Amino acid sequence: MDNCIFCKIAKREIEGGIFLESDNFFAIKDKYPETEGHSLVIPKKHIITLLDIPDNLGNELIGFVKKVSEKLMDDGFGSGFNVIMNNFEVAGQEVMHAHIHIIPRKKGDGIRFFTKSK
Ligand code: AMP
Ligand code: ZN
Repeated sequence: MDNCIFCKIAKREIEGGIFLESDNFFAIKDKYPETEGHSLVIPKKHIITLLDIPDNLGNELIGFVKKVSEKLMDDGFGSGFNVIMNNFEVAGQEVMHAHIHIIPRKKGDGIRFFTKSK
């Protein structure tokens, strides 16, 4: 897709800092990290939400998410991690090219998810 930032990174049209990849997915560090090491797992093809990811890529996807998460812990970014995906605008999706957030966690980092806005 023209003008999609993650497609441009996938095609290496811009430098996105790809640090791991599989046949159909790649990983980069988030530009505005919630915690140090916050990364995104992104399909190489332009698909929009989880619902568009072909079922037959399920094993590859979960394997790749695990590989990236393990690397982030090995690299000292945390001793645990959250996996989060925003699907559709109402759920907070801002970049309309599917991506899974991997957020490394450290004890006492003060991060809380799923707090309701008042
Ligand atoms: P979401 O709200 O789930 O759509 O999240 C989009 C994420 O993409 C945000 O966490 C942004 O910080 C991140 N982001 C946007 N542009 C870039 C970029 N060029 N490189 C890395 N991360 C990006
Ligand atoms: Zn795209």
